Amino acid sequence: MGSVLEALLELQDIELQLVDIRRQLQHKRQLVQRQGARLQAIRDKLAVEHEAVRRMQMDVDAIDVDLKGHMAQVSRLREHLNTVRTNKQYAAILAQLNNEKADASRLEAKALEMMANIEARRKAMAAYEEEERAEAARLEDLRAQAAAADAMFAPKVAELERRRAEAAKRLDAKILTLFERLSDRYEGEALAKIERTHPRKDEFMCSGCHMSLSAECYNALMIRDEVQTCRNCGRILHIDRSS
Ligand SMILES: [Zn+2]
Repeated sequence: MGSVLEALLELQDIELQLVDIRRQLQHKRQLVQRQGARLQAIRDKLAVEHEAVRRMQMDVDAIDVDLKGHMAQVSRLREHLNTVRTNKQYAAILAQLNNEKADASRLEAKALEMMANIEARRKAMAAYEEEERAEAARLEDLRAQAAAADAMFAPKVAELERRRAEAAKRLDAKILTLFERLSDRYEGEALAKIERTHPRKDEFMCSGCHMSLSAECYNALMIRDEVQTCRNCGRILHIDRSS
């Protein structure tokens, strides 16, 4: 095999390694992003719960104030009861007193019911908070893993990039541009082997897209070190002489 195709194959080998590393690093970053979104969802839910409980507590406080007013009124009416002179007055105040007491106990029951609700929501919130802590720890863990992977691959990436620059020097600009365009399109797989599809017949296909190729194409590559592309997928064709 000639030096052009050799350089292209080497470039592809380097590119594939870089693509693989990028994919692994990208995957780790995606895990971090997904975990961040999960944690945020829990935090949003918690914020809604906090706000709901705060409002419920304000309602309970308002009822409490109302209740204290009724209780004060009950005390006043009780004292008043001792000072009345007529039965009619007594009956009127007693009726008022009973009304106040009834209002007070109704409010008290309502406040108790609301406090029980608050308690239940606080318990649910405590569970969310537990969940939040676990998810936050998981996020930290994933971030550390992503950073460790970045650091671990950095020297390898630098080495591959250096080798890529070296291999690129051996190709002319037009071929390099073609390679880079194909590499972007096919995630590093810019080249494809020509495969013989029949052991005794001159039938060939592109290993990249499986479309058939002419014998002329194969024969040309057997004798010349030149760039031929698959008419279907556009990949640069080469003959694998190792197999
Ligand atoms: Zn093809």
